[in-house]
Amino acid sequence: MIPQTDPKAAYLAQKAEIDAALARALMSGWYILGEEVKGFEREFAAFAGAPRAIGVANGTDALAIGLRALGVRPGDRVITVSHTAVATVAAIEMIGAVPLLVDIEEGGYGMDPEALEAALSLPGAPVRAVVPVHLYGHPAAMDRIMPIAAGAGIPVLEDCSQAHGARLLGQGVGSFGQAAAYSLYPTKNLGALGDGGVLTANEAALADQMVALREYGWRERYISDIAGQNSRLDELQAAILRVKLRALDADNERRRHIAALYRAALDGLAFGLPAERRDARHVYHQFVIRCRRRDQVREFLRGKGVASNVHYPLPVHLQPAYRGRIALAPSGLARTEEAARTVLSLPMFPQLPERDVQRVAEALAGAAASGLD
Ligand SMILES: *Cc1c(COP(=O)(O)O)cnc(C)c1O
Repeated sequence: MIPQTDPKAAYLAQKAEIDAALARALMSGWYILGEEVKGFEREFAAFAGAPRAIGVANGTDALAIGLRALGVRPGDRVITVSHTAVATVAAIEMIGAVPLLVDIEEGGYGMDPEALEAALSLPGAPVRAVVPVHLYGHPAAMDRIMPIAAGAGIPVLEDCSQAHGARLLGQGVGSFGQAAAYSLYPTKNLGALGDGGVLTANEAALADQMVALREYGWRERYISDIAGQNSRLDELQAAILRVKLRALDADNERRRHIAALYRAALDGLAFGLPAERRDARHVYHQFVIRCRRRDQVREFLRGKGVASNVHYPLPVHLQPAYRGRIALAPSGLARTEEAARTVLSLPMFPQLPERDVQRVAEALAGAAASGLD
């Protein structure tokens, strides 16, 4: 079976270096918030073009801590999308804030700027943050979202969990908003071998607030200035991440190359191919096609030895935990619901061999030839 993703292949590609980094971290005798985390934070900030980076325990915590650092309080509204990992919405509720979900843009998967603008003028509790998601590795329309949010005086926290290294108009994602949150889950473009997350902040005071929030609200050891939590990145994961960060640009290039191979091979078939803005650098966390008979296509591929996945089969607002109680933009979420019915994620990871890309494309051609598209 050709896997849809393969974090072990990423480990094996850098095994000697990762094993050495682990041995170094183990022998240091210091296992939480030490030199490895500091090193990773410095190196990730440089990579992201941000003044500061702050390691945390996972991507959900990064979002929650980012929102709190931006001043979001219980009862405040936060606008985001429903076509995302449930974590984006869960993080908003974790801090007692109230999600307001808007639709995605026509022809893409990012927040629709017009839906954002309309949602900002709804009556009700004040909106205190906007969380665009750079889903699948393609940047959301930050060139349109930022002026709208800035015009309303509302800070933006970018969810970059699927877009480490993506760019728009020559600028890295995560550097448009006041802050950005990244998951470092093993299958992400930059993945730990366990849980991890990281935040970036555009100014020192905001970064200091995040540092305090991730460890009991301490500014000085054992003295809580504010009510914080425990969300620390550990030294072993940080040591691994420093090795993997060095491969991230090459890994993203390899993902882009695989995407180009898919495009060439699928050209002319009836599947919808992912859009890439000309002024964007898509980093293909996923290569997502659109199929009318998605579940049958998926079954057909499985029969040909090709694994695929669906990100995500149910939009957040239709999931049992949220259905009927979550605030939605009055114009509805039609594009989101259509995407959930038709999206299919093909095998995509840097170590995927070219012959497997061809086999995936041949299997899809076979599906189309038997009337499944
Ligand atoms: C993976 C992911 C998260 C959550 O990250 P965890 O590390 O699993 O908590 C949040 N948002 C998006 C868009 C993601 O893909």
